[in-house]
Amino acid sequence: MSEKIKNILSQENFSKEDLLELMKIDNSEDLDLLFKKAYEIKAKYVGRKVYYRGLIEISNKCIKNCKYCGIRRDNHNVERFSMSKAEIMEAVKWIYENNYASIALQSGERQDEEFVSFIEDLIREIKIFSNGKLGITLSLGEQSKETYRRWFEAGAHRYLLRIESTNLDIYNHLHPMDNKHTFEVRKKCLEYLREIGYQVGTGVMIGLPNQTEEDLVNDILFYKDMNIDMIGMGPYILHKDTPLGKEWENSVVSVEKRVELGLKMIAITRIFLKDVNIAATTALQGLDPQGREKGLLAGANILMPTATALEHKGKYLLYDNKPGINDSVEKAKEIMDSNVKAIGDEIVYGEWGDSLHFKNK
Ligand code: SAM
Ligand code: SF4
Repeated sequence: MSEKIKNILSQENFSKEDLLELMKIDNSEDLDLLFKKAYEIKAKYVGRKVYYRGLIEISNKCIKNCKYCGIRRDNHNVERFSMSKAEIMEAVKWIYENNYASIALQSGERQDEEFVSFIEDLIREIKIFSNGKLGITLSLGEQSKETYRRWFEAGAHRYLLRIESTNLDIYNHLHPMDNKHTFEVRKKCLEYLREIGYQVGTGVMIGLPNQTEEDLVNDILFYKDMNIDMIGMGPYILHKDTPLGKEWENSVVSVEKRVELGLKMIAITRIFLKDVNIAATTALQGLDPQGREKGLLAGANILMPTATALEHKGKYLLYDNKPGINDSVEKAKEIMDSNVKAIGDEIVYGEWGDSLHFKNK
């Protein structure tokens, strides 16, 4: 066990150099120390509590062409779907009856008026149906400030938009520069969301080829600079029918390394930002059958069990071997419940579980 790591972990505040030392930990004893400290901070600031967000993947139609993503516009091997309002409401009803208290609507990106007003009406319907009791998180990509405002006024109050990577070279390599898919637009969107009053979530993909430990530390510093309330980040996983799936087929970072980096990112973010919400994501579970538990033990406090209808789950494949695509909603819940119980955290039902960071501001 190194004295240096012990000393850093005993501090309240951290410099960039401290964060980098933690990110570079390469032995199991120090890693253990890091995760224990992160869990301690989680217990102190947000409690040993886990909140569920029932995730409904409402459509895989997308105007964007992110070079890593399985449902990118130009992947013609994907069977496209959009759930009807009735289908979505059926999933919402299940989430409500199972007392999750929050839903997350996610989809490929669309900016046309038909889509924007569909979502606006849907949010109002969910609010009316649940008597205002269901908290609504959106993850519907880049939109105009006006659209974000319309959805906020309809009743959504949290928004997840990952910055994906704050290293500009990596960002530009991940995204074709058509569709105005630039870092500046993405960042501007996060600013709009904040100005409108959303609880703002972002995150990055972890373990990309050529991504350094310093890049990851810069990502965490970006969360701080942007005063982010919620973090959803996870390892990058190849999808064979994407440009980067092909380019990186032989240079992808090992599974063990990506899992370790994913857990370190959760732990260091928890230690540094303290009272934010952090999700243990499906991608982590995709690379490690115990990814979820390990994520919670490294400081995460949010899980997003999917409530997408079984018939559509297999068409929302962002990456290869996505876990749980054959599990019913009941099965998905059963698995998550047992994951949480296994580590002794409490699942909090019936409460929104808003980011304390947002409340504490
Ligand atoms: N379209 C919206 C957007 O991009 O913000 C929301 C849905 S998008 C599928 C949600 C997230 O999936 C992205 O922010 C990205 O980080 C993640 N994702 C996509 N492809 C991935 C891959 N191959 N490995 C890991 N994460 C991936
Ligand atoms: Fe579309 Fe989101 Fe996938 Fe990019 S990451 S292609 S915006 S669904």
